[in-house]
Amino acid sequence: MTKRLFEENAYIKEFTATVTACHPVKNGFEVVLDQTAFFPEGGGQAADGGTLNGVAVTDVQIKEDVIYHTVATPFSVGEQVTGAIDWQTRFARMQSHTAEHLVSGIVYRQFGFSNMGFHMSETTMTADFAGVLTPQQIKEVERLANQAIYENVPVTVEVLSGDDLKAKEYRSKLDLDTDVRLVTIEGYDCCACCAPHVAKSGEIGLVKVLDYYPNKGGTRVELAAGINAFADYVALHDQNKEMMGLLSAKRERVPETVERLAETLKSTQAELRLLQQKLALSSMEQVQAGSVTCGFVKGAAYDSMQTCVNQMSGDVRLVFSLVEDGALYVAAARQGDVRPVIKALNTAFDGRGGGKPNYGQGKLSVFDKQGILNLLSAQ
Ligand SMILES: [Zn+2]
Repeated sequence: MTKRLFEENAYIKEFTATVTACHPVKNGFEVVLDQTAFFPEGGGQAADGGTLNGVAVTDVQIKEDVIYHTVATPFSVGEQVTGAIDWQTRFARMQSHTAEHLVSGIVYRQFGFSNMGFHMSETTMTADFAGVLTPQQIKEVERLANQAIYENVPVTVEVLSGDDLKAKEYRSKLDLDTDVRLVTIEGYDCCACCAPHVAKSGEIGLVKVLDYYPNKGGTRVELAAGINAFADYVALHDQNKEMMGLLSAKRERVPETVERLAETLKSTQAELRLLQQKLALSSMEQVQAGSVTCGFVKGAAYDSMQTCVNQMSGDVRLVFSLVEDGALYVAAARQGDVRPVIKALNTAFDGRGGGKPNYGQGKLSVFDKQGILNLLSAQ
């Protein structure tokens, strides 16, 4: 059994220990120490990073109360080592983990929904609640959680068993009965947890709900806390400042400015489409090839070609638009069937496309105007 220094004191950044075992594994060596401040992966939290005698610790796992540190080089049994925790990452996780307790405790106290799941990524975390939280309730939880941070209340740890444990009201995902480690945020929450937490709520600094959405009949809440929440605020602020510059708008006017731009863009695009259709129609060259009426335009899109084909007289009509890598075509018939014509065109000029008897469209990779006219005249 490895003595867990992180359970007694979450603030140990450096420690000395004795190597009790070292085994080669696939990706290096697994080192066991008599004691460690490295938190192993578990409870939704990743393993601590850091070094043992300057050698990087790439993973930390716990199996049957023994903690294994993965390193690239072997250590001798009996050797004294100095362990150093990647403190910046660990402290950010302590802030996040404590913030999650705070938010979950408030959700439970205010609305009675249990926390059903927790996951921590490097910058954000998600907490799953057993009930549907309304937008107003989410705002209230966020406000109360930050209030608890300003109050800077103690976060304490105790290990309880038996009657002491039975007498205690606490949140837990598991049914535990002995040596349960309880983390209490004074006045806000009590929860069974084995991870390191901050000692006072003020150290969380800030907690922000980033998003929330329905999940398995309940609500998944995405959160950022502490250093990560601050980084998110900085990124959002920088982004907003850039947007204000691009839009020449004051902060509070950014949404309405974007809305106005979107409306202008939409009407300009509609106007442009109409002009393109008119241009295609006025520039179209019409040629009769047997019973088929053909139109030739340059660079027109399908919608403009449809306008052209609708304006043309005759039964079977075909419009070709010369583009960079071949020609688009649109075919329409009032009584006849365009499909045999399309099939013949596709075969002769390496084309793709098709449609219904009265309408079809596609593209030829080879554009040979005379060849097309000859083929249609022979139909
Ligand atoms: Zn915890």
